[in-house]
Amino acid sequence: MNILILGSGGREHTFAWKLAQSNKLSKLFVAPGNAGTEKIATNIPIGVNDFEAIKKLVLKESIQLVMVGPEDPLVNGIHDFFLGDKELNNVAVIGPEKLAATLEGSKEFAKEFMMRHEIPTAQYKSFTAETVEDGFKFLEELIPPFVLKADGLAAGKGVVILNDLNDAKVELKSMLVDQKFGAASSTVVIEEFLDGIELSVFVLTDGDSYKVLPTAKDYKRIGEGDTGLNTGGMGAISPVPFASKDFMEKIEQRIVKPTVEGLKKDNMPYKGFIFIGLIKVGDDPKVIEYNVRMGDPETEVVLPRIQNDMVELLKAVADQKLSEIDLQLDDRTATTVMTVSGGYPGSYEKGKEITGIDAITESLVFHAGTTLKDGKVVTNGGRVMAITSFGTDFKSALAQSYKNVEKLSFEGMNYRKDLGFDL
Ligand code: AMP
Repeated sequence: MNILILGSGGREHTFAWKLAQSNKLSKLFVAPGNAGTEKIATNIPIGVNDFEAIKKLVLKESIQLVMVGPEDPLVNGIHDFFLGDKELNNVAVIGPEKLAATLEGSKEFAKEFMMRHEIPTAQYKSFTAETVEDGFKFLEELIPPFVLKADGLAAGKGVVILNDLNDAKVELKSMLVDQKFGAASSTVVIEEFLDGIELSVFVLTDGDSYKVLPTAKDYKRIGEGDTGLNTGGMGAISPVPFASKDFMEKIEQRIVKPTVEGLKKDNMPYKGFIFIGLIKVGDDPKVIEYNVRMGDPETEVVLPRIQNDMVELLKAVADQKLSEIDLQLDDRTATTVMTVSGGYPGSYEKGKEITGIDAITESLVFHAGTTLKDGKVVTNGGRVMAITSFGTDFKSALAQSYKNVEKLSFEGMNYRKDLGFDL
């Protein structure tokens, strides 16, 4: 089978690494890819939203399956583009169609979906510029902290949590009236604050049956002790130690099943990964968000724990035969530590040579923001390289990741040294 992966991060390198292990794979392409995917696949320098260029590539290379990494092309309707094109409609696309991708593209749409299907989540109301005064009144009724969410995609910055009522009103006005996040904040969801610990659950579905993949917990803030600015993710651990069997059963019965059933009832065909962001409030799981793709860096710990042949798994999704697959998981804990450029998530320089990669042993190296320059691997983004390790528990796995991270070096390299501090 010839396969194309869309994207260029650690997530996509991990998919490439996993797919490359299958003897059912013929040719593997990644667009645009990074220095890590370059070693195991053919990188093609086209953008993930350039559907016409993707079409040309798919036809030229007889690609039979497209694995979509990031959310953007899904929200922009890449799956529908393939279905609507005579030359492409027999090519499998892993990732939902545009309507279902709205679960990530619009917070209000996701909340309405959860309400309709009685999926536990925070109470909420949504507002527009016309109803901003009602928004102020709603804020006055709530107990702080106040959670304000721009409805649309805002590059991970659209959620603002504030303690002070006045600050919340000012923020609401700035989002709705001053369009702080552009069109993404023309609607704002205000919701009840959920107090608890976060985790993510990943589900693979063919639209009919589903498999619950390993859980993961990521570390979003740049600073130790979860302080400072949000990042794309500084590391992750799988499984989440506090996700007991009982708790997982609640997640499956109250959230996963109604989600997959809800998609069916609402006539939203879904072939792909669902990433469910959850908060454990007391002993109960509540949904904070849906993403319509895998997470990064969670993929770097979830995929290595899946023992099945990834080509078989994705093909089963495409053919709606997922129920025939017996999911096999590695019981060990996997951890990943992300190295980042100095200055990230603020401004940072690119093009710094990365040394020490070859000295890494007994861990997996997943490239994120890297590229090749004159035969050398250099930095090409904020998040640069993830080091994934296995252990009998998260502490031993992390110790292994850190041992290897210390062998890596590039000017300005930074990473969090306290992953797992809260577990
Ligand atoms: P989201 O983009 O919806 O995942 O929100 C980003 C982050 O904001 C989440 O990872 C949580 O840490 C936090 N968050 C979102 N919604 C809530 C909520 N209702 N209560 C508490 N924290 C929240």
